[in-house]
Amino acid sequence: VSAEDSAFEQALLSRIAREGPLPLADYMGLCNAHYYGGRDPLGAAGDFVTAPEISQMFGELIGLWLADLWARSGAPADAAYVELGPGRGTLAADALRAMGRAGLRPAVHLVETSPVLRAAQRARLPDTVHHDDVASLPADCPLLIVANEFFDALPARQLQRTGAGWRERCVGHDGERLALVHDDADVSALVPPALRDAPVGAVVETSPATAAIAAELSGRLARQGGAALIVDYGHEGPAIGDTVQAVARHRFADPLAAPGQRDVTAHVDFTPVAEAARNAGLRVTGPVGQGAFLAAIGIDARARQLAVANPAAAIDIETARKRLVDPAAMGDLFRVLAVGHPGWARPEGFGEHAA
Ligand code: SAH
Repeated sequence: VSAEDSAFEQALLSRIAREGPLPLADYMGLCNAHYYGGRDPLGAAGDFVTAPEISQMFGELIGLWLADLWARSGAPADAAYVELGPGRGTLAADALRAMGRAGLRPAVHLVETSPVLRAAQRARLPDTVHHDDVASLPADCPLLIVANEFFDALPARQLQRTGAGWRERCVGHDGERLALVHDDADVSALVPPALRDAPVGAVVETSPATAAIAAELSGRLARQGGAALIVDYGHEGPAIGDTVQAVARHRFADPLAAPGQRDVTAHVDFTPVAEAARNAGLRVTGPVGQGAFLAAIGIDARARQLAVANPAAAIDIETARKRLVDPAAMGDLFRVLAVGHPGWARPEGFGEHAA
């Protein structure tokens, strides 16, 4: 445990001792800001592996998907590439290379809070403009937005049905360790009406940060043109379930232990994201499984091409392809949602789910 990690944990514990239990969402926000701010968690030697780190095919196919949509929508020369939480910049680098071959060379705007990951991104993509949040993105051009495993890292609130009614879950301290407790306030108004009669013990999650970013980006796409592709693990709610989890060294871990030293995430509910887009007048397509999407936009052909070019890597390429599309691996749990300006072309890859 580094000195920074123990200082963070001590500060968190004294804050809880001083002010009382913290809403779980605040705990997640503080922990992840510390966690991502001080390390690169990606890769075999880190805590988890994401799709762009598994294979270049992932970013390349997303780049081609964007270039195709852009070309069929009038090829506006001033369109900008925007990525939310770009990690090491691998997806962006692979996508921009593929876009360039298709004649699309956009300005690059990355929304990233971690100084460590910003440095990694700048090393791969020198001509990048960084943003702390979506508010400062350019307001005068169409946007081609990508977010892979970004929304799952945003803070989730948990509302739980107790014997006394719906209460917010908070992180307190039981004298020995961090523990979940309930706030006293009645939060039933925050529970989707369809779920208010859920049995005692039921947990409902909401993500105000996700809703706010989805609303802001949807407004921009409606005014500025463009589209967004959102990939993450999750579901289409409203749903009952506690999905807050932590991962350390590629294994599930206790989200309340070693705060700030492991990635704390929640499954993404795509319904409020799609709703924000529909409210802004955007076209919504999906979500569909990542496997179906990648198959529809040509991962099999790209895998064959790469294997022919590099026969020694053929087995690795096939292993990576399978991991991305297999329903038993990432193919089903990971979902893909596209939203776009109604005047833009219909996106490829969604089959009969196309709007
Ligand atoms: N998209 C990358 C990395 C996923 S990890 C990949 O697929 O490999 C989550 C990313 O989101 C990291 O880059 C992290 O630093 C960033 N992030 C987390 N919370 C954020 C926030 N509130 N604002 C901006 N970036 C954030």
